[in-house]
Amino acid sequence: DSVFSHVVQAPEDPILGVTVAYNKDPNPIKLNLGVGAYRTEEGKPLVLNVVRRAEQMLVNDQSRVKEYLPIIGLSDFNKSSAKLIFGADSTAIQENRVTTVQCLSGTGSLRVGAEFLARHYHEHTIYIPQPTWGNHPKIFNLAGLSVKPYRYYNPQTRGLDFQGLLEDLGAAPSGAIVLLHACAHNPTGVDPTLDQWEQIRQLMRSKGLLPFFDSAYQGFASGSLDADAQSVRMFVADGGECLAAQSYAKNMGLYGERVGALSIVCKTADVASRVESQLKMVIRPMYSNPPIHGASIVAVILKDRDLYNEWTVELKAMADRIISMRKQLFDALQAKGMAYKLLFTLVIHVCTPGDWSHIIKQIGMFTFTGLNTEQVAFMTREYHIYMTSDGRISMAGLNSRKVPHLADAIHAAVA
Ligand code: PMP
Repeated sequence: DSVFSHVVQAPEDPILGVTVAYNKDPNPIKLNLGVGAYRTEEGKPLVLNVVRRAEQMLVNDQSRVKEYLPIIGLSDFNKSSAKLIFGADSTAIQENRVTTVQCLSGTGSLRVGAEFLARHYHEHTIYIPQPTWGNHPKIFNLAGLSVKPYRYYNPQTRGLDFQGLLEDLGAAPSGAIVLLHACAHNPTGVDPTLDQWEQIRQLMRSKGLLPFFDSAYQGFASGSLDADAQSVRMFVADGGECLAAQSYAKNMGLYGERVGALSIVCKTADVASRVESQLKMVIRPMYSNPPIHGASIVAVILKDRDLYNEWTVELKAMADRIISMRKQLFDALQAKGMAYKLLFTLVIHVCTPGDWSHIIKQIGMFTFTGLNTEQVAFMTREYHIYMTSDGRISMAGLNSRKVPHLADAIHAAVA
């Protein structure tokens, strides 16, 4: 008998499990809107041309070897990553108050940051938005932090619960950590306005709350790398401290290469240097040092003006396709709503399929449709459309040909 025979079957990851179910479905009409990865109009994964070029340069460079990187990763990558998120002219960088370490994509950056905070920060409570990316509570819990929610999303308006957010952060103990999505909040697609960010900043600074930014979609949300980093830069500009986890999964399409960075902005260069020494103590026993290939691609692209410009163009094209999918789905649902109304108003008093304007108001990869668990199950069963049970759909998984099928399914689900 196995010494592991008592081990019980664990449930599928709620997000990755969607793709598992999708893969098992033999029906050719099937559509996977669960996957958090970009797809082309043809439904194919995309390797950016600029990434191919950078890889070719790396391969051609005979001087490149496969030695271990330092514990904190590739130095050029770290410097360029800090500039990308904080701005090339950031005074915090100029004053050497920022330490940046290469980590295993966004997830690894969050985890290293969380482990550091659990060991070296006095307050062990972290507030996370409700809802948030499903991995957040697990990452912080496992690092030994205590996770509490703050109100974020209002299902009635399908927008921000700004009042609730201010109340909850206002009631948090001073010094508590607050997780903030830098842009393109996952899963809701709802971000504060710049004006609201400013109020959040003032409240957090007045209470000494420590911001931990999760930046998984810089440039992917609006198409502009600078615009999508505004929230982070506002907090750094006031001279205060913060953490930021960056991922290159979405904005460079480097998902499986696991490239990301954790930056900690400190009050002085001296503190930053000691913080960095302790980040090494976290990383060394966890995975020793990060992988070299993906970080080299990013470093090559960020350091070369031509490649950088090509990247911004390709990035904007991805963002624009997603924005266009929102518009097409919205139009299709509007059209359906009209037909439905005309057909049935005289027969029964039907409530119209509703207001779908949140589809074009929300930003980033996901739309939080407002569909409930039963409606999602119905769409999967009857229409072979796969998404997370909270009604989140990945706009990146959609294409023009599939819009009518999705609109039919949503229409049938809410009818
Ligand atoms: N944070 C958020 C909000 C995300 O949506 C994701 C990706 N789904 C991540 C972090 C981390 O992704 P990765 O580890 O692939 O960079």
